[in-house]
Parts: sequence; C-alpha cells; structure tokens
Amino acid sequence: MTTWALEIEDLTVAYHSKPAVWDVDMCIPEGVLAAIIGPNGAGKSTLLKAALGLIPKATGHITFYGKPYAQARAWIGYVPPRGSVDWDFPTTALDVVRMGLYGKLGWFKRVGKNETELAMSALEQVGMADYAHRQIRQLSGGQQQRTFLARALVQDARIYFMDEPFVAVDAVTEKAIVAILQSLRAQGKTVVVVHHDLQTVTEYFDWVTMLNVQLVANGKTAEVFTSDNLHKAYGGKLAFLNDMGVEVR
Ligand code: ADP
Ligand code: MG
Repeated sequence: MTTWALEIEDLTVAYHSKPAVWDVDMCIPEGVLAAIIGPNGAGKSTLLKAALGLIPKATGHITFYGKPYAQARAWIGYVPPRGSVDWDFPTTALDVVRMGLYGKLGWFKRVGKNETELAMSALEQVGMADYAHRQIRQLSGGQQQRTFLARALVQDARIYFMDEPFVAVDAVTEKAIVAILQSLRAQGKTVVVVHHDLQTVTEYFDWVTMLNVQLVANGKTAEVFTSDNLHKAYGGKLAFLNDMGVEVR
C-alpha cells in the first residue's frame, strides 16, 4: 500500500468568502519530488499555507503520513517564498539557519553536536559556509534562497514544502538546489515544490499536482503532464507554451 506523505481531502480556502482553493482532493506519495503547478492566482501558495496551518481553511482534512498537522509538525520543513520575508531584519545567515533548530533540543542533544556546528554543516551543504556571518539582507536572491534551504535541512524533516524556490535565482543556484532536493529524495524524503516554470517540470519532478482553484490533475508526471491537462489548467494562456519549447504529450 502506498504511504501518502501528504493527503488532502475536500480542501476549500476562501479570502473574504471568495474561494481561492475549491474542494481539492490530492495526495503525494512518500519519497518523490512533487510539483504543484498552475497559472498565477491558481491558489498554489494558498493551498500550501492552508496545509501548513498558516491560514485557516473553510473545509478540509489534511494528513501527513496519516497524521494531522498537530502530530506531524516535527516532520515538516517549510521554505517560505523569499518575497514574504522581512530582509531588513538584522540577522546573519548563520542565525537564520540556527532558528531552524528551535524546538529540536532533544534531537541535537542526542546527536551530541552543538547548534552552531549543525547550522554550519547545513550551510556547507548548500555552498554558503563562507557567508555564514554575512547579514542576510546583503546576500543575493540566490544566496538567501540557499540559506533558507539550509534552515529547512537542519530541521531534518520527512517532508519539505517550498514555495517557488527558483524565483530570482541564477541557473547555477537552481541546479545546486535541485541537486539537494534530489539527495533528500534519495534519503526517502518527500519534497513538495510550488513551481512556475513548465519547461523544467518533466526534468525535475516525479509527481505533479495541477491546480486552477479546483484540482485539474494529480499523479505521476508521465501520466498527468499532458497537453490536455495543461489546457484545462492554463486555458487560453497555453498558446505560448509550444513557443517556449515546453514538451508535452
Ligand atoms: P498562486 O500562488 O497560485 O499564484 P495564490 O494562492 O497566491 O495563487 O492566490 C490565489 C487567489 O487568492 C488569488 O486570486 C489571490 O489574489 C487571492 N489571494 C491570495 N492571498 C490573499 C489574501 N491574503 N487576501 C485576499 N486574497 C488573496
Ligand atoms: Mg504563489
């Protein structure tokens, strides 16, 4: 039987009684790189925030490895979109990563390393060790994104959620982030990414959830990333996809 890392039933989320996510059922199996795609305003970020309990839902039942959020929170790592962070806050890259360890006291005592060592090794993994003491606001977009990824890594989660991690990062950083996500998958972890760039979907992701307020499709990339489904999700905006060189079946 498949273990669902994430299972969502009947999720509806509304802002001022206007639904942004409407009656969505979806699931993501354990150990995949999964993309949530759909046009601007499709409700992708809203779905993620509702799943993580950051905003209220009108209806819906959400479980992580079969457990509700309250029992699963220690398994969940979240990388917020860069745009949602107050970069004027005076803090270093190392501080940002150490913040990911709060609430993990029991865990790092057992490992026998101190928080700084753990945070430094995560910064090293994302190629940011040299910038540990730099103010976060002085880092480039890609470096900020790597720092937030390092913070998620120290959380040692089973399932990671990221909202558009490749926005405003250079190609080298994008490849570096993808390599880290693939190594997480190789460890059996599940990674859920709100993703914008249709051209890289088949290359990066095993699993796709296609959304346009309502669910359009949910399943293996090879099965659901079809021109039929893309037309349903993107409608008239799809004409340019072929010009962009997006290959669909
Ligand atoms: P996506 O991430 O797919 O681009 P969002 O989840 O951000 O879409 O937004 C879905 C819809 O909800 C959009 O129409 C957006 O304008 C609206 N929306 C998002 N956040 C808010 C908010 N805080 N208050 C009111 N409306 C919102
Ligand atoms: Mg969004």
